[in-house]
Amino acid sequence: MSYGKVALIGLGLIASSMYWAMKRAGMTAHVSGYARSSETRETARRIGLCDTVCDSAEEAVKDADLIVLAVPVGAMGAVAEAIAPHLKPGATVTDVGSVKKAVIDEVGPHIPEGVHFVPAHPMAGTEHSGPESGFASLYDNRWCLIVPQDASEEATAALETYWQALGANTQRMEPAHHDLVCAVVSHVPHLIAYTMVGVADDLRRVSDQEVIKFSAAGFRDFTRIAASDPTMWRDVFLTNKEASLEILGRFTEELFALQRAIRTGDGDTLFDYFTHTREIRRGILQAGQDTDAPDFGRIRKE
Ligand code: NAP
Repeated sequence: MSYGKVALIGLGLIASSMYWAMKRAGMTAHVSGYARSSETRETARRIGLCDTVCDSAEEAVKDADLIVLAVPVGAMGAVAEAIAPHLKPGATVTDVGSVKKAVIDEVGPHIPEGVHFVPAHPMAGTEHSGPESGFASLYDNRWCLIVPQDASEEATAALETYWQALGANTQRMEPAHHDLVCAVVSHVPHLIAYTMVGVADDLRRVSDQEVIKFSAAGFRDFTRIAASDPTMWRDVFLTNKEASLEILGRFTEELFALQRAIRTGDGDTLFDYFTHTREIRRGILQAGQDTDAPDFGRIRKE
Protein backbone atom coordinates (compact mmCIF):
# COMPACT_ATOMS: atom_id res chain seq x y z
CA MET A 1 0.00 0.00 0.00
CA SER A 2 1.49 3.40 -0.92
CA TYR A 3 -0.21 6.73 -0.41
CA GLY A 4 -1.43 8.79 -3.38
CA LYS A 5 -2.33 11.79 -1.24
CA VAL A 6 -1.01 12.77 2.19
CA ALA A 7 -2.64 15.49 4.33
CA LEU A 8 -0.57 17.25 6.98
CA ILE A 9 -2.76 18.88 9.64
CA GLY A 10 -0.62 21.34 11.58
CA LEU A 11 2.41 22.80 9.81
CA GLY A 12 5.10 23.10 12.47
CA LEU A 13 8.53 21.54 12.97
CA ILE A 14 7.36 17.93 12.76
CA ALA A 15 5.02 18.23 9.74
CA SER A 16 7.36 20.48 7.74
CA SER A 17 10.25 18.07 8.33
CA MET A 18 8.02 15.24 7.12
CA TYR A 19 7.24 17.19 3.94
CA TRP A 20 10.90 17.89 3.15
CA ALA A 21 11.85 14.29 3.95
CA MET A 22 9.08 13.04 1.61
CA LYS A 23 10.42 15.24 -1.19
CA ARG A 24 13.98 14.12 -0.50
CA ALA A 25 12.83 10.49 -0.71
CA GLY A 26 11.26 11.20 -4.12
CA MET A 27 7.76 10.31 -2.96
CA THR A 28 5.21 11.19 -5.62
CA ALA A 29 2.26 11.57 -3.22
CA HIS A 30 0.40 14.86 -3.47
CA VAL A 31 0.78 16.62 -0.12
CA SER A 32 -1.93 18.96 1.14
CA GLY A 33 -1.42 20.98 4.30
CA TYR A 34 -3.48 22.96 6.75
CA ALA A 35 -2.65 25.10 9.79
CA ARG A 36 -5.17 26.96 11.90
CA SER A 37 -3.67 30.45 11.52
CA SER A 38 -3.63 32.31 8.21
CA GLU A 39 -0.13 33.52 9.13
CA THR A 40 1.25 29.97 9.19
CA ARG A 41 -0.60 29.08 5.98
CA GLU A 42 0.88 32.15 4.27
CA THR A 43 4.37 31.23 5.46
CA ALA A 44 3.87 27.69 4.16
CA ARG A 45 2.83 29.03 0.74
CA ARG A 46 5.79 31.42 0.65
CA ILE A 47 8.39 28.72 1.39
CA GLY A 48 6.78 26.06 -0.83
CA LEU A 49 5.80 23.84 2.08
CA CYS A 50 3.19 21.35 0.74
CA ASP A 51 1.94 20.98 -2.82
CA THR A 52 -1.35 22.61 -1.78
CA VAL A 53 -2.00 24.69 1.34
CA CYS A 54 -5.72 24.60 2.15
CA ASP A 55 -7.79 27.09 4.12
CA SER A 56 -9.67 24.36 5.99
CA ALA A 57 -8.76 20.99 7.45
CA GLU A 58 -11.82 19.45 5.77
CA GLU A 59 -10.52 20.50 2.35
CA ALA A 60 -7.00 19.25 3.13
CA VAL A 61 -8.16 15.72 4.10
CA LYS A 62 -10.50 15.30 1.12
CA ASP A 63 -9.48 12.15 -0.80
CA ALA A 64 -6.34 11.76 1.32
CA ASP A 65 -4.98 8.24 1.86
CA LEU A 66 -2.85 9.25 4.85
CA ILE A 67 -3.82 11.99 7.30
CA VAL A 68 -1.15 13.11 9.77
CA LEU A 69 -2.27 14.98 12.89
CA ALA A 70 0.72 17.18 13.77
CA VAL A 71 -0.78 19.58 16.32
CA PRO A 72 -0.17 19.77 20.10
CA VAL A 73 -1.43 16.71 21.98
CA GLY A 74 -4.21 18.69 23.68
CA ALA A 75 -5.63 19.75 20.31
CA MET A 76 -5.70 16.29 18.66
CA GLY A 77 -9.24 15.33 19.75
CA ALA A 78 -10.90 18.51 18.43
CA VAL A 79 -9.02 18.25 15.12
CA ALA A 80 -10.01 14.59 14.72
CA GLU A 81 -13.65 15.45 15.41
CA ALA A 82 -13.60 18.21 12.78
CA ILE A 83 -12.11 16.08 9.99
CA ALA A 84 -13.90 12.79 10.78
CA PRO A 85 -16.93 13.28 8.47
CA HIS A 86 -14.61 14.12 5.55
CA LEU A 87 -12.32 11.08 5.67
CA LYS A 88 -12.16 8.69 2.73
CA PRO A 89 -13.09 5.06 3.51
CA GLY A 90 -9.91 2.97 3.68
CA ALA A 91 -7.76 5.99 4.61
CA THR A 92 -5.25 5.86 7.47
CA VAL A 93 -5.19 8.49 10.22
CA THR A 94 -1.97 8.78 12.17
CA ASP A 95 -0.54 11.34 14.58
CA VAL A 96 2.90 12.39 15.76
CA GLY A 97 2.00 13.28 19.35
CA SER A 98 4.56 12.87 22.11
CA VAL A 99 2.03 11.08 24.33
CA LYS A 100 0.08 8.05 23.16
CA LYS A 101 -2.51 6.90 25.73
CA ALA A 102 -4.22 10.31 25.84
CA VAL A 103 -4.16 10.74 22.06
CA ILE A 104 -5.71 7.31 21.57
CA ASP A 105 -8.44 8.17 24.10
CA GLU A 106 -9.14 11.56 22.51
CA VAL A 107 -8.81 10.71 18.80
CA GLY A 108 -9.92 7.05 18.68
CA PRO A 109 -13.65 7.63 19.28
CA HIS A 110 -13.86 10.04 16.31
CA ILE A 111 -12.35 7.67 13.73
CA PRO A 112 -15.19 6.38 11.52
CA GLU A 113 -15.74 2.73 10.67
CA GLY A 114 -13.61 1.74 7.68
CA VAL A 115 -10.82 4.24 8.45
CA HIS A 116 -7.59 2.95 10.02
CA PHE A 117 -6.04 4.64 13.03
CA VAL A 118 -2.31 4.01 13.55
CA PRO A 119 -0.81 6.31 16.22
CA ALA A 120 2.90 7.05 15.92
CA HIS A 121 5.61 9.17 17.53
CA PRO A 122 8.83 10.18 15.79
CA MET A 123 11.48 10.45 18.50
CA ALA A 124 13.19 13.44 16.94
CA GLY A 125 12.92 17.16 17.41
CA THR A 126 14.63 20.42 18.17
CA GLU A 127 13.77 23.34 20.42
CA HIS A 128 12.48 25.24 17.37
CA SER A 129 8.90 25.31 16.18
CA GLY A 130 6.83 26.59 13.29
CA PRO A 131 6.74 25.92 9.53
CA GLU A 132 10.20 27.35 8.84
CA SER A 133 11.98 25.19 11.40
CA GLY A 134 11.67 21.88 9.52
CA PHE A 135 14.44 20.10 7.63
CA ALA A 136 14.64 16.89 5.59
CA SER A 137 17.16 15.02 7.73
CA LEU A 138 15.36 15.41 11.09
CA TYR A 139 14.29 11.75 11.16
CA ASP A 140 17.48 10.18 9.82
CA ASN A 141 18.45 7.21 11.99
CA ARG A 142 15.97 8.29 14.68
CA TRP A 143 13.23 6.02 15.99
CA CYS A 144 9.59 6.34 15.10
CA LEU A 145 7.47 4.40 17.58
CA ILE A 146 4.34 2.87 16.07
CA VAL A 147 1.48 2.15 18.44
CA PRO A 148 -1.01 0.05 16.44
CA GLN A 149 -4.61 -0.12 17.60
CA ASP A 150 -7.29 -2.03 15.71
CA ALA A 151 -5.89 -1.11 12.30
CA SER A 152 -5.19 -3.87 9.79
CA GLU A 153 -1.68 -5.28 9.55
CA GLU A 154 -1.50 -3.88 6.02
CA ALA A 155 -2.27 -0.33 7.19
CA THR A 156 0.22 -0.58 10.06
CA ALA A 157 2.98 -1.99 7.86
CA ALA A 158 2.35 0.74 5.24
CA LEU A 159 2.88 3.44 7.86
CA GLU A 160 6.12 1.76 8.97
CA THR A 161 7.36 1.67 5.37
CA TYR A 162 6.44 5.35 5.02
CA TRP A 163 8.44 6.37 8.12
CA GLN A 164 11.39 4.26 7.01
CA ALA A 165 11.37 6.15 3.69
CA LEU A 166 11.59 9.38 5.71
CA GLY A 167 14.83 8.07 7.24
CA ALA A 168 13.56 6.66 10.55
CA ASN A 169 13.82 3.25 12.16
CA THR A 170 10.48 1.94 13.38
CA GLN A 171 9.43 -0.09 16.39
CA ARG A 172 6.00 -1.12 17.61
CA MET A 173 5.08 -0.41 21.21
CA GLU A 174 2.14 -0.55 23.61
CA PRO A 175 0.70 2.88 24.53
CA ALA A 176 1.36 2.70 28.30
CA HIS A 177 4.91 1.48 27.75
CA HIS A 178 5.47 4.23 25.19
CA ASP A 179 4.38 6.88 27.68
CA LEU A 180 6.67 5.52 30.40
CA VAL A 181 9.68 5.27 28.08
CA CYS A 182 9.10 8.81 26.84
CA ALA A 183 8.72 10.12 30.40
CA VAL A 184 12.24 8.77 31.10
CA VAL A 185 14.04 9.76 27.92
CA SER A 186 12.27 12.98 27.03
CA HIS A 187 9.50 14.38 29.21
CA VAL A 188 11.12 14.48 32.67
CA PRO A 189 14.51 15.61 31.25
CA HIS A 190 12.68 18.57 29.71
CA LEU A 191 11.03 19.33 33.05
CA ILE A 192 14.41 19.24 34.78
CA ALA A 193 15.84 21.63 32.17
CA TYR A 194 12.92 24.00 32.63
CA THR A 195 13.43 23.83 36.40
CA MET A 196 17.19 24.38 36.29
CA VAL A 197 16.82 27.44 34.10
CA GLY A 198 14.13 28.69 36.48
CA VAL A 199 16.45 28.11 39.47
CA ALA A 200 19.29 30.06 37.83
CA ASP A 201 16.87 32.86 37.08
CA ASP A 202 15.80 32.95 40.73
CA LEU A 203 19.34 32.92 42.02
CA ARG A 204 20.00 36.60 42.45
CA ARG A 205 23.53 36.07 43.76
CA VAL A 206 24.59 34.99 40.27
CA SER A 207 24.04 37.92 38.00
CA ASP A 208 22.32 37.46 34.64
CA GLN A 209 25.59 38.50 33.03
CA GLU A 210 27.44 35.60 34.65
CA VAL A 211 24.74 33.07 33.80
CA ILE A 212 25.04 33.97 30.13
CA LYS A 213 28.81 34.47 30.09
CA PHE A 214 29.72 31.15 31.71
CA SER A 215 26.88 29.09 30.27
CA ALA A 216 29.16 26.63 28.43
CA ALA A 217 29.43 24.60 31.64
CA GLY A 218 26.33 22.42 31.15
CA PHE A 219 23.80 25.17 31.69
CA ARG A 220 23.78 26.08 27.99
CA ASP A 221 22.25 22.71 27.08
CA PHE A 222 19.57 23.24 29.70
CA THR A 223 18.70 26.65 28.24
CA ARG A 224 18.44 25.17 24.76
CA ILE A 225 16.03 22.47 25.92
CA ALA A 226 14.11 24.97 28.07
CA ALA A 227 13.50 27.08 24.95
CA SER A 228 11.14 24.38 23.62
CA ASP A 229 7.56 25.26 22.74
CA PRO A 230 5.51 25.98 25.92
CA THR A 231 2.19 24.78 24.44
CA MET A 232 3.59 21.46 23.35
CA TRP A 233 5.27 20.79 26.70
CA ARG A 234 2.30 21.96 28.78
CA ASP A 235 0.18 19.43 26.89
CA VAL A 236 2.77 16.67 27.33
CA PHE A 237 2.69 16.97 31.13
CA LEU A 238 -1.07 17.39 31.34
CA THR A 239 -1.61 14.25 29.26
CA ASN A 240 1.27 12.07 30.47
CA LYS A 241 0.65 12.79 34.12
CA GLU A 242 0.92 9.26 35.52
CA ALA A 243 4.23 8.27 33.91
CA SER A 244 5.77 11.72 34.48
CA LEU A 245 4.95 11.60 38.20
CA GLU A 246 6.30 8.06 38.44
CA ILE A 247 9.64 9.05 36.91
CA LEU A 248 9.80 12.32 38.87
CA GLY A 249 9.36 10.32 42.07
CA ARG A 250 12.32 8.11 41.18
CA PHE A 251 14.35 11.14 40.13
CA THR A 252 13.73 12.80 43.49
CA GLU A 253 14.86 9.66 45.34
CA GLU A 254 18.13 9.52 43.38
CA LEU A 255 18.67 13.24 43.87
CA PHE A 256 18.27 12.86 47.62
CA ALA A 257 20.77 9.98 47.59
CA LEU A 258 23.33 12.14 45.78
CA GLN A 259 22.56 15.08 48.06
CA ARG A 260 23.29 12.85 51.04
CA ALA A 261 26.55 11.63 49.46
CA ILE A 262 27.68 15.24 48.97
CA ARG A 263 26.73 16.22 52.52
CA THR A 264 28.48 13.21 54.10
CA GLY A 265 31.52 13.44 51.81
CA ASP A 266 30.83 10.00 50.33
CA GLY A 267 33.12 10.23 47.31
CA ASP A 268 32.81 6.52 46.43
CA THR A 269 29.06 6.83 45.90
CA LEU A 270 29.48 9.90 43.71
CA PHE A 271 32.30 8.33 41.69
CA ASP A 272 30.44 5.05 41.12
CA TYR A 273 27.28 6.90 40.15
CA PHE A 274 29.05 9.12 37.62
CA THR A 275 30.98 6.14 36.20
CA HIS A 276 27.70 4.33 35.61
CA THR A 277 26.06 7.33 33.92
CA ARG A 278 29.11 7.81 31.71
CA GLU A 279 28.58 4.27 30.42
CA ILE A 280 24.99 5.13 29.53
CA ARG A 281 26.24 8.10 27.51
CA ARG A 282 28.69 5.88 25.63
CA GLY A 283 25.84 3.48 24.82
CA ILE A 284 23.82 6.34 23.28
CA LEU A 285 26.77 7.42 21.13
CA GLN A 286 27.47 3.85 20.06
CA ALA A 287 23.83 3.45 19.02
CA GLY A 288 24.24 6.51 16.77
CA GLN A 289 21.61 8.53 18.62
CA ASP A 290 23.65 11.73 19.08
CA THR A 291 25.50 12.25 15.85
CA ASP A 292 25.95 16.00 16.55
CA ALA A 293 28.01 15.39 19.67
CA PRO A 294 31.71 16.35 19.43
CA ASP A 295 32.68 13.00 20.98
CA PHE A 296 30.46 10.96 18.61
CA GLY A 297 33.21 9.85 16.19
CA ARG A 298 35.71 9.01 18.90
CA ILE A 299 33.35 6.89 20.95
CA ARG A 300 32.02 5.08 17.83
CA LYS A 301 35.58 4.06 16.90
CA GLU A 302 36.43 2.70 20.34
P1 NAP B 1 4.87 23.34 16.25
O1 NAP B 1 6.08 23.57 15.43
O2 NAP B 1 4.60 24.29 17.38
O3 NAP B 1 3.57 23.34 15.29
C1 NAP B 1 2.30 23.07 15.82
C2 NAP B 1 1.24 23.20 14.73
O4 NAP B 1 -0.01 22.91 15.37
C3 NAP B 1 1.13 24.58 14.12
O5 NAP B 1 0.82 24.48 12.76
C4 NAP B 1 -0.04 25.21 14.88
O6 NAP B 1 -0.80 26.09 14.10
C5 NAP B 1 -0.90 24.00 15.18
N1 NAP B 1 -1.70 24.19 16.38
C6 NAP B 1 -1.29 24.65 17.59
N2 NAP B 1 -2.31 24.67 18.47
C7 NAP B 1 -3.39 24.23 17.80
C8 NAP B 1 -4.75 24.04 18.15
N3 NAP B 1 -5.19 24.29 19.40
N4 NAP B 1 -5.60 23.59 17.20
C9 NAP B 1 -5.17 23.34 15.94
N5 NAP B 1 -3.88 23.49 15.56
C10 NAP B 1 -3.01 23.94 16.46
O7 NAP B 1 4.83 21.89 16.89
P2 NAP B 1 5.64 20.57 16.51
O8 NAP B 1 6.96 20.61 17.21
O9 NAP B 1 5.59 20.35 15.05
O10 NAP B 1 4.76 19.48 17.30
C11 NAP B 1 3.62 18.89 16.71
C12 NAP B 1 3.32 17.58 17.43
O11 NAP B 1 4.46 16.75 17.33
C13 NAP B 1 2.99 17.71 18.91
O12 NAP B 1 1.92 16.84 19.21
C14 NAP B 1 4.25 17.24 19.61
O13 NAP B 1 3.95 16.60 20.83
C15 NAP B 1 4.81 16.24 18.59
N6 NAP B 1 6.25 16.08 18.63
C16 NAP B 1 7.07 17.16 18.78
C17 NAP B 1 8.45 16.97 18.84
C18 NAP B 1 9.38 18.15 19.03
O14 NAP B 1 10.50 17.98 19.51
N7 NAP B 1 8.99 19.35 18.66
C19 NAP B 1 9.01 15.69 18.68
C20 NAP B 1 8.14 14.61 18.46
C21 NAP B 1 6.77 14.81 18.45
P3 NAP B 1 -0.41 27.65 13.96
O15 NAP B 1 0.99 27.70 13.46
O16 NAP B 1 -1.39 28.14 12.97
O17 NAP B 1 -0.55 28.22 15.33
